[in-house]
Order: sequence, then structure tokens, then C-alpha cells
Amino acid sequence: MRMCVNCRKKNCKSELLRLVNINNIWTIDHSGKAQARGLYICNDKQCLLSAQKNKRLLKSYGQSFAQLVASILDSYDNKQ
Ligand SMILES: [Zn+2]
Repeated sequence: MRMCVNCRKKNCKSELLRLVNINNIWTIDHSGKAQARGLYICNDKQCLLSAQKNKRLLKSYGQSFAQLVASILDSYDNKQ
């Protein structure tokens, strides 16, 4: 079980996105195996929207994290 960094809900790993920081750039770790500083966040529009407003996260992880969250949200919108 992993915990979402935003809402702190525990989910099965498949329901969480693994994000990793490589050279100060946040990216999605699709393999789940990247050797880098990582975190988990819900693969869920509502959680990602609230993450964008979560000052604690933005302060901890920076602008690149905010951009990645925005790009994930964009990809959801494109699917609909
Ligand atoms: Zn969450």
C-alpha cells in the first residue's frame, strides 16, 4: 500500500501515479522502478486539482511539480 502525498489516502499502487524527480525535473515514472526521489499521488482528477492548490506540496516540490500536475490534468481533459 502506498499513500498519496496530497490527500494522504492509502491506495493500491495501481491507483496511484508515481512521480520522480530527476535532475530537478518532476516526471511520471511509468515503470515504477526509476532510481530517483519519488512520491505517489492519486491518478484522479479531483485529487490533482486539489494538489494544485496545496501550498505545502508546491513549497516542497517546486514549480516543476506544479507543471507536471497541470500536464496530467491536461491529458485527462483531452481524453474526454
Ligand atoms: Zn490523493
